[in-house]
Amino acid sequence: MTSAPSPPSPLRSPRRALFVDRDGTLNPDLHYLKDADRLELFRGVGDSLALAHDHGYLVICVTNQSGIERGLYGPDDVDRIHARLNERLRPFHAAVDAFYYCPHAPGSECACRKPGTALFEQARDDWAIDFGSSAVIGDRALDVEAGRRLGLLTAHVTPFGHRHEGEQELVDRGVVPDLRSDSFPLAVYRVLARG
Ligand SMILES: [Mg+2]
Ligand SMILES: [Zn+2]
Repeated sequence: MTSAPSPPSPLRSPRRALFVDRDGTLNPDLHYLKDADRLELFRGVGDSLALAHDHGYLVICVTNQSGIERGLYGPDDVDRIHARLNERLRPFHAAVDAFYYCPHAPGSECACRKPGTALFEQARDDWAIDFGSSAVIGDRALDVEAGRRLGLLTAHVTPFGHRHEGEQELVDRGVVPDLRSDSFPLAVYRVLARG
């Protein structure tokens, strides 16, 4: 599922994208967030996403929202949260260009729940994205796994105070990211330095 402004002509040359996870990456993970009024961004997210745009990256958010299939909230709630997220970014002259989300629960065997790659591939087709010059930043091993499958530069970010759990999950799943950081802005700067 997607909520996006009209994509550009597919005839335009391939572009690079910064794929970002949502919960635990852009905003504290409040677990099945339903109420947009509770959304907060981590410090530095606005400025760093503006910088990504300045460097020519599209910013595409890909997020697992199993709370929909679990009946905890609906697509309208998710759309409101994404609209609010972009409102919060506006003072920084930053924006997420498009949001793609999987509404399914684990075990539903859909292709879109990360580490499945279907939403990334849909974004590639919608926006003429070149995976080889693109990157993904996320706080979970499944974000890194999806990026690896697609040949993206992968950056793992561990929110402040959760470093140990984040690192342990990578070890348990045998996933090795290209870059590691304990803050989102630093992850963005490192991606841009590689680009
Ligand atoms: Mg996350
Ligand atoms: Zn799905």
